[in-house]
Amino acid sequence: MKNLSTRSRLILLVVVSALPALGLTAYSAFEERSVARNNARADLVRLTKLAAREQEQIIEGVRQSMLASAQVLALLKGDRAGCNRYLAGLLAQNSNRYHTMGVYDVDGELVCSAVPWKGRISGADRGYFRRTKETGAFAIGEYQTGRLTGREAVNFGFPVRDAAGKIAAVAFIGFDLDSFNRVAATTPLPKDGNITVLDRNGVVIGRHPETAAVRTGEKLPNARVLEATFSARSGVFERERVDRADRLFVYEGVARDTDGSTPIRVLVSLPLDLIFAEANRTLARTLAGIAAATLLLLLGAWFGTEFFVYRNIRTLVETARRVRAGDFSVRTRMRYENDEFNQVGRAFDEMAETLQQREQELKKVMHDLKEQAITDSLTGLYNLRYLRELLPRELARAQRNRSPVAAIMIDIDYFKRINDTFGHDAGNLVLRELSALLKGSLRASDIACRYGGEEFTLILPDVPLEGALQKAEAIRLAVKGLALDYNGEPLGAFSASLGVAIFPQHAGDANALLVRADEALYRAKGAGRDRVVASEVVPAQRGRLVPQVP
Ligand code: GH3
Ligand code: MG
Ligand code: MG
Repeated sequence: MKNLSTRSRLILLVVVSALPALGLTAYSAFEERSVARNNARADLVRLTKLAAREQEQIIEGVRQSMLASAQVLALLKGDRAGCNRYLAGLLAQNSNRYHTMGVYDVDGELVCSAVPWKGRISGADRGYFRRTKETGAFAIGEYQTGRLTGREAVNFGFPVRDAAGKIAAVAFIGFDLDSFNRVAATTPLPKDGNITVLDRNGVVIGRHPETAAVRTGEKLPNARVLEATFSARSGVFERERVDRADRLFVYEGVARDTDGSTPIRVLVSLPLDLIFAEANRTLARTLAGIAAATLLLLLGAWFGTEFFVYRNIRTLVETARRVRAGDFSVRTRMRYENDEFNQVGRAFDEMAETLQQREQELKKVMHDLKEQAITDSLTGLYNLRYLRELLPRELARAQRNRSPVAAIMIDIDYFKRINDTFGHDAGNLVLRELSALLKGSLRASDIACRYGGEEFTLILPDVPLEGALQKAEAIRLAVKGLALDYNGEPLGAFSASLGVAIFPQHAGDANALLVRADEALYRAKGAGRDRVVASEVVPAQRGRLVPQVP
């Protein structure tokens, strides 16, 4: 669960949510099947009982007619010809139901028959004969081939009693199997149902519809079905894979012999899938519905996570990545609505906004700090540190352009006196005023620095010695022209001394250039101050570095 993506979790949730519906469907399908099974059972039981009663009525009819003829036969004892005639008459009346009729003596020898016979015929081994003799009652035989007619039949036996009530003979009727088949054929079977009439040995004596597997005169081929059918007088059971299908069976005994045995059984069966067809259709429909609904939900979960979750997460992650890379101007641009992702997006954008503001503030602070670091606080000119940083760069560029750079060093004459006479603040005022004067006299590319104390340095790129001397002279004059007041008190006249050196004419590097200019200044002081002096020193490597500057 820990390693699953949101989408997988959602899909799992959908599948899990579908489970109760599936369970419920399975349960109701099971219920419906059991209702269908019970209904089918009840219907089939009714049908089977009906068929059994119908067979029973036919047999009862035979029994009644035998009961009637038994008295006549008792009277005709000894009159064989009369007996034969009598039975032939009866047979003619019932030829549609009976094959034959006859009478055995108590030893089972045929003594009278509706059809002529030759020689001795014994029925002593026939089941109906033995049972009639033993029980003294009507008895039903089993499937047999008639000895008189050679036809398939089930024979019924009935005792013929003498005046004393003792059994004197056993009368019999060869009952045509068509009667059983007729009942079978007229039973209103459901589709794919079949009905079988069995004798006491499990031999088929009636069947509808006819199939190659189950033949009249043969035992029912399926031993398991046969066993179940003979386990009680009536019952219901299911068997798998009978006639290539699972079937429901209902059986019912027909008639009952005096010895308690059941001579005939009716067996009706129906394929189970037919019973469950409707339930199965419902189940399939419901399952299809659940599958479709689940599929829709899954699609919803899939595209929902894409649309509502992943898209937003991708935006957030991408934005976070760009913020981490230092781009504070980036925004999620999510619609600031009420859903959670948009709230996160808004918080994110606000965070980026703040970061952006902080960055700008920081940049400004940094810029100011840098300015402070390179600016002299009293005069607003660049400081010595900046000069040392800048000058080598300027010289390198000048060297590339094969152009000169002038350095002018300026020092106020007898400055100590101003401090001493008017105070330190007055001195500061002079320093500021002089700085303003210097700034005002420079081009954009020129740089003015406070070298230290009341000493200043001007760097003039692209200015040769001559131009530098002119500039220095102009400054000297301007300083002399300064007329400053401090608290309404005139500070008197000033002058300054200036030293000029040119790169690469006088010095090959920044340090040397400043030293050369300072030396020239020192010489200006020595020569009586208030003057401009050019450096005289020519560096040894001059010719190699730069061509002669005019
Ligand atoms: P010189 O003609 O030889 O240059 O004489 P000078 O009096 O100007 O001598 P120097 O250049 O050595 O003087 C430096 C004096 O400048 C020392 C100090 O009192 C004063 N000074 C240095 N920095 C400041 C400052 O920031 N404000 C004020 N008011 N005075 C300063
Ligand atoms: Mg000085
Ligand atoms: Mg000075």
